[in-house]
Amino acid sequence: MTPLGEHIRRLIRNGETVSLERFMAIALGDPEHGYYMTRDPFGVDGDFTTAPEISQMFGELLGLWAAEVWALMGSPKQIQLVELGPGRGTLMSDALRALQVAGNFAKALTVHLIETSPVLEAQQREILAGSEFKISWHQSLDTVPYGPSIFLANEFFDALPVRHYVFQEGAWYEKVIGLDENDALYYGLADDPETSIRARADENAVLEVSGLSHRVMAELAKRVATDRGAALIIDYGHVETQFGETLQALKSHEPVSPLDEPGEADLTAHVDFAALARTARAMGASVYGPQRQADFLSKLGIFERANGLKRQATPRQAIEVDRALLRLVSTAPERGAGGAMVPGMGALFKVMAITHPDMPQPPGLQSPSK
Ligand code: SAH
Repeated sequence: MTPLGEHIRRLIRNGETVSLERFMAIALGDPEHGYYMTRDPFGVDGDFTTAPEISQMFGELLGLWAAEVWALMGSPKQIQLVELGPGRGTLMSDALRALQVAGNFAKALTVHLIETSPVLEAQQREILAGSEFKISWHQSLDTVPYGPSIFLANEFFDALPVRHYVFQEGAWYEKVIGLDENDALYYGLADDPETSIRARADENAVLEVSGLSHRVMAELAKRVATDRGAALIIDYGHVETQFGETLQALKSHEPVSPLDEPGEADLTAHVDFAALARTARAMGASVYGPQRQADFLSKLGIFERANGLKRQATPRQAIEVDRALLRLVSTAPERGAGGAMVPGMGALFKVMAITHPDMPQPPGLQSPSK
């Protein structure tokens, strides 16, 4: 049994309520044994692969996106580039290299990385060592100074804990983790219904809510709408709020049961973009998208960038560039973890931007959504 499996059983035996949300927060974020706290989960040898790890083009295009947004903001003399959940630091490293072409933007820039994992922070410090930019690290948004800012979040929101509510006999009950007579964890429901949810649904329908995602989004939107700036959110998720659960556990690129080995498998849930957009608008920000990653990256010029790279590449490298390009923009169904067919990253991943209401439309995105 994993140390966190033991820890969670102890909490339940002591009569504490372990909601699914609390379970997920412990499994991912426990300071000693949490999934992200103890490892680098990325790549072929890890549990999953992300866009910046597939190709340098991803971070480069985002760096150039930030430079254009800064110009659209009226080129403020000071600008913060803030990344939430920077992983290995690859995206930021590629972005900072690319945005050097916009010299005045580079001069105005300070960099802030929000990371809870000491292991990943160490990797970010290593890859960004020697950077000429002033870079600081934060545990949360709270310590990032106010002021004009551009926020980037790739595969960040899907890593935040979710709650599940199940509709039974006319009321919503929160999912909690129970312990059976054989010492096995199982999904149960809270004794008392949650009365604040007004929606009605079919018997046993599940409503998935990420409270932390909304708190983060509200803070981003407030800052963007007050201090000027924009936030770019890239993740897999759904465009319309819908019933159903999307919690998934992945280990070595294969799905496993979320309850089996807390702390040893990555836990993620699809991002409810529609719900995040409502939160952002309520705080006074304009919302663009969500739209497919494929459309966003091609509008930003990923095909041209790939051609540029291929011109300087060996034939073998050129094949790698094409392969990476295809992975990032493909929309055709492909075999995903566990053998299920899923849309390619270009369609599965969505891009949403929120901006100060006076800012013109940011590059790569369609007109504001209502
Ligand atoms: N953006 C990176 C990594 C995505 S994985 C990439 O695309 O490769 C999720 C990242 O978010 C990891 O760096 C993880 O440690 C971090 N993270 C997870 N929960 C967090 C939280 N509550 N606050 C800050 N960072 C968090």
